[in-house]
Amino acid sequence: MRVAQLGSGTPELAVVAGVHGDEPCGVRAVERLLDERPTVERPVKLVVANEAALERRVRFVDEDLNRAFPGDPDAKTHEGQLAHRLVEELEDCLTFSMHSTQSHAEPFAIVNEISETATEICPQLPVAAMVETSNFAEGRLFSEIDTVEVECGLQGSETAAENADRLTRAFLTAVDALPGDTVSRDLPVFRLTDVIRKEQADTYEVFVDNFTEVEPGNPFAAADGETQVAEEPFYPVLMSPNGYQDVFGYAAEKVDVLQTQTAAD
Ligand SMILES: [Zn+2]
Repeated sequence: MRVAQLGSGTPELAVVAGVHGDEPCGVRAVERLLDERPTVERPVKLVVANEAALERRVRFVDEDLNRAFPGDPDAKTHEGQLAHRLVEELEDCLTFSMHSTQSHAEPFAIVNEISETATEICPQLPVAAMVETSNFAEGRLFSEIDTVEVECGLQGSETAAENADRLTRAFLTAVDALPGDTVSRDLPVFRLTDVIRKEQADTYEVFVDNFTEVEPGNPFAAADGETQVAEEPFYPVLMSPNGYQDVFGYAAEKVDVLQTQTAAD
């Protein structure tokens, strides 16, 4: 784990990259901040989490770090120990953690609950949606630390790295660490309701777009040509043929649209 800081004093803000070692976009954003060293109005902790996995360009060494929280100093796995150290490092920080995916090119935010912090910050980020994952939060960073996660785009793409940079600056501006104003947008809010499992197969297909409602009776995925059909309407989230080992992704419901407040309000 690499830890650095912008500004002086004890940080109440943190930017975290590299929770997953095969998602380099956030690391680029952190490195750029370290190169440019912008003047900050509040100190910010910068963390590159799973360096061992990043070096090997794998998601994790022993287990998924974002399922290993709170961790344990005596854990038998690299990620189990790392999770514990990361919690100690981030304990008093509002944390911004960057990921990338195989499922969706457009950035979106992931939060543990639709809290005041989440509803204030997320509409100020250049994201298309906010996803609430409280039903599936076990072991994730934000089960321990007040965290806004963002999916920056497609894993390994140049666009994801550029998005990570824009998203980090928008976050740091929204929390008054960087000067200036953010642009607020109306933001649809989705809540994960179900895991969409997949059977062991040689080929997987997904027929639907994330964040676009699937109607009952419509086929949405297939494993070795065996089609899965929607029984009830749902919104696919983080759905991709090969992104995860045993699930296609998640089903979500649309719960809200956060409206931007205009100056006239
Ligand atoms: Zn990730």
